[in-house]
Amino acid sequence: MTVKADFHVHSRHSGDSTAPMEKQVLAACEKGLQVLCFTEHFDKDWPYHNTPDLPPGYFDLDLAAYRREFLALQDKYQDRIELRMGIELGLQPHLGPALCAYLKENDFFDFVIGSTHVSHGMDPYYSIFFEGVSEKEAWRRYFEDALSSISAFHDVDTYGHLDYVVRYGPTKDSRYDWTDFSDVIEAILEVLVQNGVCLELNTANLVKGCRAPSPAPGILRRYREMGGIGVTIGSDAHAPAYIGAFFDQAARILAEAGYDSYTVFKNRKAEHLPL
Ligand SMILES: [Zn+2]
Ligand SMILES: [Zn+2]
Repeated sequence: MTVKADFHVHSRHSGDSTAPMEKQVLAACEKGLQVLCFTEHFDKDWPYHNTPDLPPGYFDLDLAAYRREFLALQDKYQDRIELRMGIELGLQPHLGPALCAYLKENDFFDFVIGSTHVSHGMDPYYSIFFEGVSEKEAWRRYFEDALSSISAFHDVDTYGHLDYVVRYGPTKDSRYDWTDFSDVIEAILEVLVQNGVCLELNTANLVKGCRAPSPAPGILRRYREMGGIGVTIGSDAHAPAYIGAFFDQAARILAEAGYDSYTVFKNRKAEHLPL
């Protein structure tokens, strides 16, 4: 495996994972990774009224508990793997000032992912998102909200799983052609390029039965042509089995899209490693 760093991993500090942090660290060591960056969820103002199976506060983050356990593990495993502390911020158009204040107050992160999990007050993870509209319309609605959310707050290091919506639709990516939405997707890429934000290659779509990781390979290529600064790679693993999943395929796709490196972060500074 040429990619030795996983920059999108959750543990039990995220509402939707039960994996102990230490199990995630051990899985990364077994996979031969040299760097593992935890990126726990913090989704402020989650629309709990549309996700009745989730208790209020599900996507809040106990940052003190997360940091305490992270620092202990970083010390314990320092001879085996380099651990970094990140966060996955859920972006919504009204959250700009709140997220700005949150990062100012908590200035110790190595890495910040910005992700759009909520569109029209719903998470596309739930089938209700696709009810009453064509799948194509649902995708477009998501991309338009993604553009609004990243435009409202782009002090992030990478933009996560750009076509997240495709993962959960009725036909997944079997009929998905990103160029049908190139107007709005290129507008998203333009925000990233203008603000020096990386694009994330997220392999969870492959785990969930899609043909390609997120985003579609053509989007990676377009981002590079537009002057993007780099691509981060993450498994989005919520359990040990998925750490570093499909990273060989990710490296091949990146190379085919014209890249010769991938990007990692420490203290929110980018470093480009050869593929
Ligand atoms: Zn996410
Ligand atoms: Zn995630």
